Amino acid sequence: MRAARYHANRDVRVEDVAAPAPEPDEVVVDVAACGICGSDLAEYSHGPRAGEESLPYVMGHEFGGTVAETGADADVAVGTEVVVNPLVACEDCWCCDAGQYNLCRNLVVVGAQRPGAYAERVRVPATNVVPLPDGVSPETAAVAEPFTVAYHGLLQSPIRSGDDVAVVGMGPIGLATVQLARDVGAGTVYASGHREARRALAAECGADVVVDPRETDFVETVRENTRGGADVAFDVTGTESGYADAVGATRPDGHTTLVGVFEDAIEADIMEYVSAQRSATGSAAYQTGPRAGEEFGTVLRKFAAGDLDPEPLVTSRIALDDIESEGFEALADSDSGEVKVLVRP
Ligand SMILES: [Zn+2]
Ligand SMILES: [Zn+2]
Repeated sequence: MRAARYHANRDVRVEDVAAPAPEPDEVVVDVAACGICGSDLAEYSHGPRAGEESLPYVMGHEFGGTVAETGADADVAVGTEVVVNPLVACEDCWCCDAGQYNLCRNLVVVGAQRPGAYAERVRVPATNVVPLPDGVSPETAAVAEPFTVAYHGLLQSPIRSGDDVAVVGMGPIGLATVQLARDVGAGTVYASGHREARRALAAECGADVVVDPRETDFVETVRENTRGGADVAFDVTGTESGYADAVGATRPDGHTTLVGVFEDAIEADIMEYVSAQRSATGSAAYQTGPRAGEEFGTVLRKFAAGDLDPEPLVTSRIALDDIESEGFEALADSDSGEVKVLVRP
């Protein structure tokens, strides 16, 4: 079968590799589409993060498809349309024992430590596939992964209907967070993003006030229009300035959920918490293991009901052969207007 394998920085090659065969508790999924994640882009430019010893390997963890083969113990029918939860928990550590599979100490990721879905087919544990509801195609389901990251972040927040919300970072997860805030009945939603095309999308996704933080002071904008700040904020940038804008935009006793992945340590003013009794919570991916379908399932039902709409986020659908030029390189170009690129192997 054909697969795009990561060999080195800016060196991804589409090659013929052996087709996977399922272990007894696994299934093989025929991939309909796999989204390119910001983490894949970081890997492409700055990797390998999964370690030199695993090179070359197949990335891709945001995917939907159809079950093509099943192992003897897999309780899924061939032909079932599914999305795959790419986090494989050990089910043996204390976090797994506590049901917090997303915090598993031995987490393995499909598309990093296991072969991913920039390939025609991929082998995954049967417990990691989530059947699709009517009305959601396997291709659309590929976008469920970033929405589920955003949904897990929402569940870590005390957000309530009527709350003013600040979302910093308008990548796919930030845009999904804006849609989710709307879905829970947020008051005013303030959004901040660097790329023009993404700010336009933020408004389309339901943000009321959208700023470019390089031109307009985001914290001032939120504070001026609220009673001293937003009730809750989300940092979806993983950067020092994004973090500062999120926490700074919250009112006294406000809460910030940290969803972004920080590559480096940052400087933070802890007195923003102490003197104004603010709080913050980290959010780690989404539930998995025996609970693999919980949060993914909610997101899929919201797709089916029209409460969330992944379609505006999908800016391109490309062939596997074009993954470097039209995928990674296009996403790295901040003027390209790309948000979510779906690769169709
Ligand atoms: Zn991702
Ligand atoms: Zn574990």
